[in-house]
Amino acid sequence: MSDAIVYLDNNATTVVAPESAEAMARCLRETYGNPSSKHRIGESAKVETIAARAKVAALLGAAPQEIVFTSGGTESNHQAILGALALAPERWHMVTSQVEHPSTLGLLRHLETQGVRVSYLPVDRHGRLDLGALECAITEDTALVSLMWANNETGVLFPIEDAVAIAQAKGVLFHTDAVQAVGKTPIDLNKIPVDFLSFSGHKIHGPKGIGVLFVRKGRKLPPLLFGHQERARRGSTENVPGIVALGVAAELAGAGLAGFETRVGALRDRLENELMARIPGAYVNGAGAERVANTVSLCLGTIEAEPILDKLNRAGICASAGAACTASGTEPSHVLTAMGRSAEAALATIRFSLSRYTTEEDVDRVIEVLPGIVRMFEAEAA
Ligand code: PLP
Repeated sequence: MSDAIVYLDNNATTVVAPESAEAMARCLRETYGNPSSKHRIGESAKVETIAARAKVAALLGAAPQEIVFTSGGTESNHQAILGALALAPERWHMVTSQVEHPSTLGLLRHLETQGVRVSYLPVDRHGRLDLGALECAITEDTALVSLMWANNETGVLFPIEDAVAIAQAKGVLFHTDAVQAVGKTPIDLNKIPVDFLSFSGHKIHGPKGIGVLFVRKGRKLPPLLFGHQERARRGSTENVPGIVALGVAAELAGAGLAGFETRVGALRDRLENELMARIPGAYVNGAGAERVANTVSLCLGTIEAEPILDKLNRAGICASAGAACTASGTEPSHVLTAMGRSAEAALATIRFSLSRYTTEEDVDRVIEVLPGIVRMFEAEAA
């Protein structure tokens, strides 16, 4: 096993930024109060929460009152979907895509057993959404359109601005799961009038267990958890250390966004181009679509990804597969199969996801190590 770690699994989770970790530790030590308490320790926690809320709002082009702190992306997605259905009990239809995150798809499959009708929009072979299909799918019964902003497996961006315009022209609420988009692509909710947006702290170098649901001013979304906190939109004592750390992470993400797109994008391009040049038959899923700058979904042809990931891990390189482990074994990714890939191609896909901490040396190491591992497995298979 190698000691030096090359961490390229940032779509799974990110390292906490030192500034964020430091703010969290300070909060745990000093401003540990309950923001609802009226004494000075409670007050200091409240002040911290207010400051962090403003930082998160600034990252999204939102107002602080539009930010609801949750436990993460999964909870935010659940609240948006269940809340929108509760707002319009006579509407029992939802529109989403085939390539959403399991936190959305799992809930929708459950809701289907309760009688909710769900339209799953297809994508093309590049992972792109067909806006015409969205237009056709919306009916008078549609309570909500929920579409992800960026895909966690391929990084492909959906045209959220156009999709919102279609939903709103038909008078339907719009939610976006922006967990993989925030901090990677500019988001200005002043300009893009989504009703609800989810994101998660641990994907932007904040801690796990803290996330955000943006609820546009004027929209009354029922809570999942009842209580007076978050203006009665999310009960439970605020996770103040998580909120403080998320505020710092949001500030850093906003400041680093332009650099992220150029510097990380250049590293990503080099990684892709060099690997494709050195591994015959390798190709990038989603290469024909607009993508966030950090994600490489690389299909290695017919060589299974799992043993390759194991070898990479032994060499100190952390990446992940285009597959999901389920109780019944390894299933090909629903995202790649929706893009028309065969099960074999999906199981032969590796995802590298970079971050602002990724270095040239990290990328060089993968370029140096991966082609040899692939050649070895190819030789074994021959
Ligand atoms: N949505 C997307 C697109 C994600 O990638 C993830 C996490 O992998 C989630 C939602 C869930 O976020 P969390 O882990 O904060 O619940």
